Order: sequence, then structure tokens, then C-alpha cells
Amino acid sequence: MQRIDGKAVSLHIQQQIAFEITRRKESGLNIPHLAAILVGHDGGSETYVASKMKTCETVGMGSSLIRYPAEVSEAELIAKVRELNGLDHITGILVQMPLPKQINPHHVIMAIHPQKDVDGFHPLNTGLMMKGLPCHIPATPQGILLLLEYYKIDTEGKHCVVLGRSDIVGKPMSVLMSRSSYPGNCTVTLCHSRTKNLPEICRTADILIAAIGKPEMVTPDFVKEGAVVIDVGTTRVPDISKKSGYALKGDVAFDLVKDKCSWITPVPGGVGPMTIASLMLNTLHSASLKFESYS
Ligand code: NAP
Repeated sequence: MQRIDGKAVSLHIQQQIAFEITRRKESGLNIPHLAAILVGHDGGSETYVASKMKTCETVGMGSSLIRYPAEVSEAELIAKVRELNGLDHITGILVQMPLPKQINPHHVIMAIHPQKDVDGFHPLNTGLMMKGLPCHIPATPQGILLLLEYYKIDTEGKHCVVLGRSDIVGKPMSVLMSRSSYPGNCTVTLCHSRTKNLPEICRTADILIAAIGKPEMVTPDFVKEGAVVIDVGTTRVPDISKKSGYALKGDVAFDLVKDKCSWITPVPGGVGPMTIASLMLNTLHSASLKFESYS
């Protein structure tokens, strides 16, 4: 078993980004700037946004955190997004999900200019990704591609099983693993809660990517000998031994599964740090991203 160290790869990418930003500063070019909108005080969202803001600072990028109370209206939020769309120095906009129930997340995502949609959630970016054209790729799937690339893990002709069909991880992951370039060229099976014979299907995977949010559901009977296992799941489970009162659990029972795998990501320290590194990359490339045709 070889452990995939997402933290180390993320730091490596952050160093490259910092180098590029220094070069931009020295050349008098604009400095990428990420604007994050946070609604309410959800513990998980606070942590994720704080980590994104801190990474901006680490790599030398500008950042702004815009907070709203949980009762904010959809109209007010969308008005803010439109204002940020019009500010030249803002190169990336993210609205931290989930949003309170009075706000339709699709309406908010649709309001973000696709060029500044560094989460890659806007349908224009989704469509361009499907076609393999330049776009913002959602941060978590892109982070997984970067890990596969970094460790030179062979993907061509492999059977990739993706567990979970969310818009932000499972669906884009399945598209990206089936594209005709590296990392990709896989034969992909996309599974979800209605899939029958789940362990049986997963056992045929050369590459198994789990994004379901069910702590340690993937046990050895899901894993083929020698498989590559990528664990996206991050669920907070109560743990009195931790200062925070909780521990982060992946979808994979790491200790039970690891000896069957050729490569495996841990939780924490696997996919999570790569999501942030990808977001930084998208924000860096935002200004120079050329869509095929969009005005
Ligand atoms: P999500 O929106 O929570 O959806 C979960 C998906 O898993 C759905 O497609 C669901 O099927 C499927 N599913 C649920 N239970 C299942 C079961 N027993 N068997 C098979 N499929 C099942 O997914 P998400 O937003 O992608 O999040 C998934 C996990 O990844 C969560 O733990 C989340 O915290 C984590 N995550 C981590 C990162 C990171 O940076 N590390 C980023 C994003 C998400 P149906 O469609 O049929 O309901």
C-alpha cells in the first residue's frame, strides 16, 4: 500500500502558485483576488471558508470575506454577487454552500459570472467541461486529477467506479475520468443510493472514488486487490478524545482496506487539502481563462 499525501501535494501546488503571484507582482500584472460569501454561522462552513482565506494569504493572493446573517434574502445575495461580477480586481467569487432554505442555490450560482465561478458550478462551466473545452473544473474532482497526475497513477483503460452522483463531486468526476486524455480514458461506472449489488460492482474497480458521506461504508468486500482508492468523504463524527469534540471520517474504512490497495488517500490529509489547492489554481487562472465564446 502506498499512501497518497494530499497535504504535501497541496503545499507543492501552493508554492508554485505563490511563485507565479510573485512573478505577476514583479511584472506589474493584476493580483488574483478571491471574494467569498458566507451566510450564517454553520461550523463546517466557517472552518472551510477560514481555511480558504488563510490559503489565499499564504500564496499572496487577495481575499475578501463577505458575511451575511442566516436570514438574508435571495435578492440581496444575488445583488452582492452581481456587484462582485462588476469589480475588476475580483478574479474569483465563491458562495459557501449549503445556503439557508429561503435561498435557491441554483439562482445564486447562475448569477456568478462564469469567468469568476472558481468553484466551477455554473452550468456554462459544466457544459464546457463536458465538451473538454477550457473552463473552471470543480475544485474537488480537479484536486483528485492532480493527485493521480502527481503520483503518475495509470488510468488508461482502467475501470473507475465513482460512488456518489452529486453535482460537485461524483458527476463531474465520472465525466473527467472518461475523457480522452490523462488522467482519464477510464471505463466509468457511476453508482448511487439506488445501485444494486454495490460491493460487487466496486470490487471490479481498478480505481474506486468514494464520495457519499457515509463514514467507513467502504469495507474490504468493496475493494479489489491492488485497487487505487480515493476517499472524498468527510463526515464529522462525535469524538470526546478530540479538543473540537469531533473527528473527521472518510467513506472508506482506511485501516481495514489499506492493505488491499496499491494507493489510498487518508482522511484527513488526502483529497481535502487538494480541493483548496484547486480553488487557488482556478482563481489564479481566472483572469487568463479564455472561453470559446461568451460575452
Ligand atoms: P452529496 O450531495 O451528499 O450526495 C451523496 C451521494 O452519495 C448521492 O449521490 C447519494 O445517492 C450517494 N449515496 C448516499 N448513500 C449511499 C449509499 N448508501 N450507497 C450508495 N450511494 C449513496 O455528496 P457530496 O456533496 O459529493 O459529498 C459526499 C461526501 O464528500 C461528503 O462526506 C462531503 O462532506 C464530502 N466532500 C468532501 C470534499 C473535500 O474537499 N474533501 C468536497 C466535497 C464533498 P443519491 O443521489 O441516490 O441520493
